[in-house]
Amino acid sequence: KQLVFSGVQPTGNLHLGNYLGALQKFVALQDVHECIYCVVDLHSLTATLVHEDLATQTRGIAAAYLASGLDPKKSIIFNQSRVPQHAELAWIFNCVARIGWMNRMTQFKDKAGKDRENASLGLLAYPSLMAADILLYRATHVPVGDDQKQHLELTRDIAQKFNNDFSAKIAELGIGVDMQVGDEKVSGFFPMAEPLIDGPATRVMSLRDGTKKMSKSDPSDLSRINLSDDADTIAKKIRKAKTDPLPLPDNADELKDRPEAQNLVGIYAALSGQTSADILKEFGGRQFSDFKPVLADLAVTKLGPINGEMRRISADPAYVDSVLRDGGERAGAKAEETMKMVHEIVGLLNN
Ligand code: ATP
Ligand code: MG
Repeated sequence: KQLVFSGVQPTGNLHLGNYLGALQKFVALQDVHECIYCVVDLHSLTATLVHEDLATQTRGIAAAYLASGLDPKKSIIFNQSRVPQHAELAWIFNCVARIGWMNRMTQFKDKAGKDRENASLGLLAYPSLMAADILLYRATHVPVGDDQKQHLELTRDIAQKFNNDFSAKIAELGIGVDMQVGDEKVSGFFPMAEPLIDGPATRVMSLRDGTKKMSKSDPSDLSRINLSDDADTIAKKIRKAKTDPLPLPDNADELKDRPEAQNLVGIYAALSGQTSADILKEFGGRQFSDFKPVLADLAVTKLGPINGEMRRISADPAYVDSVLRDGGERAGAKAEETMKMVHEIVGLLNN
């Protein structure tokens, strides 16, 4: 049985990268699988601990989920801190994972900057909490952007080490599930969760710098298209997007050394449900001055309705809260089930 889990941090305005890399996929998956989507508020404390708008931003991400088409009748939608078992399982995983594993994470290196000794312990342990988010529901599939690939590998390493370290107890309790790890068939408690990363926009780049990913936390607002931007702002940001002086190439191979061009073509492809090759068939040989207005129109057509829905839903915070409360109850019941077994496996006294 497949179970999908993913999350977004309430660290600011959602952008086109979040939409194409994550939200758009969340929506497609809810018709096919059981899905759990979380607003990972505990994770956001690793960015800014003192966070005046945390509650508002948490509701904002939930509103964006709903506006993009997530249906609380199909998917479980909740905020992480409402289910305390996320933090509890993360603690156990902190004791499973090794410091060296965390030190190697590129997200940690990027976000900690030069003064790593002064980064918070939470930022270092971020992937451990992420593993807990996923494995608390024993999720098998995780739709994410390309930047989260390394964290998913670490999630599998944690699952595998836990399964291994406690294999005797898991067998004794008879709660193992058969799974394939490499060439081996093993029995384990936590599944080897697979990332779902595909399509032309798994890593949408900054509009100002084709080598940096588009991020909520980038100080330059011109670097990203926010889901909350109006039509004029979207058009202006695309017009100002960095490009090279050459016309668009005829085939996708020639995009390789042209990160800005590759990015804009990829965005067009993802928004229109086509491949980059399809787009270049149409626009190869044309100038960016021709391409940008068409891209802007497409972005406005796709994002405009989501923007409108977000405003409508955000005007009713009580409704958003009720969705999160209900989702939290449903997630919490599943989390409790898993943690009961984890307590048994680890040998924590339950009486
Ligand atoms: P922050 O800068 O605060 O880390 P973020 O933009 O990276 O913010 P997250 O909440 O960390 O957003 O990630 C939410 C989801 O969006 C994740 O699945 C992540 O992989 C995906 N994502 C983030 N940025 C991009 C991007 N530029 N392109 C595609 N997917 C992305
Ligand atoms: Mg991020």
